[in-house]
Amino acid sequence: MTGRLLVVGAGQAGLQTAATVRTLGWEGPITLAGAESYAPYNRPPLSKAFLRGTADVASLALRSAAFYTDHAIDLVLGESIEDLGPTGEGAGTATTASGRRLPYDRLVLATGAEPRRLPIPGADLKGVVTLRAIEDADVLAGRLSAVDGLVVVGGGLIGLEVAATAVAAGLRTTVVEAAPWLMNRVVSTTTAAYIEAAHRAAGVDILQQARPCRFHGDDRGAVTAVELEDGTRIPAGLVLVAVGARPRDELARAAGLECDRGIVVDSCALASDGRTVAVGDCAHLPDPSPLGDPKTRVRLESVDNAVEQAGVAAATLLGEPQPYRGVPWFWSDQGELKLQIAGLARPEDGVVVRPGRRSGQHTVLRYRHGRLVAGECVNNPADFLMLRKALSGGTHLPAETAADTGIPLKQHLAAAATLDRAG
Ligand SMILES: Cc1cc2nc3c(=O)[nH]c(=O)nc-3n(C[C@H](O)[C@H](O)[C@H](O)COP(=O)(O)OP(=O)(O)OC[C@H]3O[C@@H](n4cnc5c(N)ncnc54)[C@H](O)[C@@H]3O)c2cc1C
Repeated sequence: MTGRLLVVGAGQAGLQTAATVRTLGWEGPITLAGAESYAPYNRPPLSKAFLRGTADVASLALRSAAFYTDHAIDLVLGESIEDLGPTGEGAGTATTASGRRLPYDRLVLATGAEPRRLPIPGADLKGVVTLRAIEDADVLAGRLSAVDGLVVVGGGLIGLEVAATAVAAGLRTTVVEAAPWLMNRVVSTTTAAYIEAAHRAAGVDILQQARPCRFHGDDRGAVTAVELEDGTRIPAGLVLVAVGARPRDELARAAGLECDRGIVVDSCALASDGRTVAVGDCAHLPDPSPLGDPKTRVRLESVDNAVEQAGVAAATLLGEPQPYRGVPWFWSDQGELKLQIAGLARPEDGVVVRPGRRSGQHTVLRYRHGRLVAGECVNNPADFLMLRKALSGGTHLPAETAADTGIPLKQHLAAAATLDRAG
């Protein structure tokens, strides 16, 4: 392939697509353009090691500067693409905010997502922050050490990671969650309850079925308190709004590509024009799970998806499309808890609980129509790896068998795999 490839969005998925397509044989010029001033970096540590002060900006870089030169990837940073200028057949000339023009023959959209904000009074006060980029993490880290109370709005993964760090640093920390459960779109209520208990034991105050209606500030415009709908006021010098992310699909929409809660792509990462590919957090893709229904679309916000989908997109760009099939997985480090999830469960899926052999370990298997569809593991990387492998191979481990916790999971899975092989 000798055309000009433009990748919009220099994050995990954009970088991975550019690197993979180059390695697999794209010979034409590749431009990787991003709005941020940093070369592609690792976001997960922003709510973990970076916030704790055990990782710095340099350690976040996904590749060295030499990598881009060696792979002839032209990195254009600090330039937001404002218009894609499509001319047909997937080609066009993009224009940046500064007026720079970037012609392309094929286009990759890897524009990621941005934090949702709360449309309530006081949302613009100083000290009401979100977390997505290095600048956000810098602000958050600086303020964490300068205030005596943090309120985290949203009991999802990022909110809980930050809460765990803050409380460990001695900060009065409150999590306000609208749903009856923490992480309610991500894990079973059983795992949510387990994790909630650990956060409470660490000193995090958790309010569920609670919604902020206003942030109060002082005469210098700095936040001082969060008011909930029931009238409760929680004093706070810092508020992290962590209520999920919105896919950055505005460029795709303006270019006439189908968008519906993200850029709609097929299982080969192709957008509705049949030429542009879209990858990572901005894409709305068919469920890739082995037992998933490809007619169901999902948006996956994870490093695993960014990397896997980039590989799929690279193959598509090179004219050798391979549909994305795989077991999505995710991790979250919350203080002493390492949560790892393999597969995509739905709230109604069944639950088999397997307490770990060591204290602090917890594993939950999720079942749909009698089939294992996902696993949730806390502080149990061995179970996680086994479950990921079993889900990839479609191992049939009946729920009644898995519920026998006297037998190690490893033994159950080995027996189930043997039975599967026998037919
Ligand atoms: C705080 C935090 C913690 C996380 N923790 C975990 C974790 O523990 N485990 C895990 O698996 N995942 C985690 N994630 C999610 C993971 O980081 C994302 O899924 C991954 O970064 C997605 O990569 P992406 O390339 O799609 O998007 P991004 O990394 O967001 O990159 C998109 C890039 O596109 C740029 N862009 C957007 N529009 C334009 C434009 N018009 N012109 C130019 N550039 C543009 C953006 O500025 C951005 O740099 C975390 C995310 C965050 C924010």
